[in-house]
Amino acid sequence: MSVIQADQTCEQCHGTGVFLSNVKDHLRSRICDCYRCEICGNSGKIFHEDDKGRSFMAECECQILRRRAHLLTESGLPGKYIRATLETYQPMNNSQKVALSRANDFLADFGKRRADFLGSLVFMGNPGTGKTHLCVGIVKHLVMKFGIPCKFVDFFQLLSDIRQGYSEEKAEKTILEPFIESRVLVIDELGKGKKGEWALDMLDQLISGRYNAGNKVTLCTTNYKNALPKRKKTKTEGFVNTTDVEYLKSYEKETLSDVVGERIYSRLSENSQFLELEGEDYRKIMKGRTSSR
Ligand SMILES: [Zn+2]
Ligand SMILES: [Zn+2]
Repeated sequence: MSVIQADQTCEQCHGTGVFLSNVKDHLRSRICDCYRCEICGNSGKIFHEDDKGRSFMAECECQILRRRAHLLTESGLPGKYIRATLETYQPMNNSQKVALSRANDFLADFGKRRADFLGSLVFMGNPGTGKTHLCVGIVKHLVMKFGIPCKFVDFFQLLSDIRQGYSEEKAEKTILEPFIESRVLVIDELGKGKKGEWALDMLDQLISGRYNAGNKVTLCTTNYKNALPKRKKTKTEGFVNTTDVEYLKSYEKETLSDVVGERIYSRLSENSQFLELEGEDYRKIMKGRTSSR
């Protein structure tokens, strides 16, 4: 692609040519006003000449950037993650370092093998450990560097959209389809919300549909882990007090397998790498501070 002709001092795009903004909690991406394509003068089209001297109109390569900016908007990332990339992720401990390095490896592998790449990642851990940040960073890279269409969905929101769909006589399949079809899907907050049979059935349709298609990459974040945490000593600094109300959060009482069921869990584990991010965010939550991670 041609060198990006964006104003390096631009406060909107910081010289990248792509302006990200938060519109009603959705990440909106578009070509920045400062962007100038020197080849086509921003018309998006250029004249080429074939070997017989006939000229024809062709698409300028800057259109690739425009399409990718549009794809990024379409991916449905939450609006508060404007600045989240793998480069801006700051690991607080070794488990978070490992997760970041795995996310970078994932992108490198994807770049090399694309078509047959099947590996998936499940980021597990307490709120505030940066699981979603890492997934958003991966999606931004896949879309903007490779042009891969991605979808991001909050599991709880998806369930509520399906319920809403029923009242508009929309079949659940209509709502699930784009998420089943997407080459890359992030399921954020897997296991959140009521775990009735219906919710699990929806999740099963989503996961199995993608599994059967055979060429899908699914990234998940979840507060649930593969094993229950050991009871921690109350006197040790930095550990959670077991009498702490927050300690009794449901995700400390059930594993991911308990929550999503054996069948879905085994589908997930077949081709996924599970990454547990350690770190306590309880006190922050209790103080009512919100984290943008
Ligand atoms: Zn700009
Ligand atoms: Zn151009």
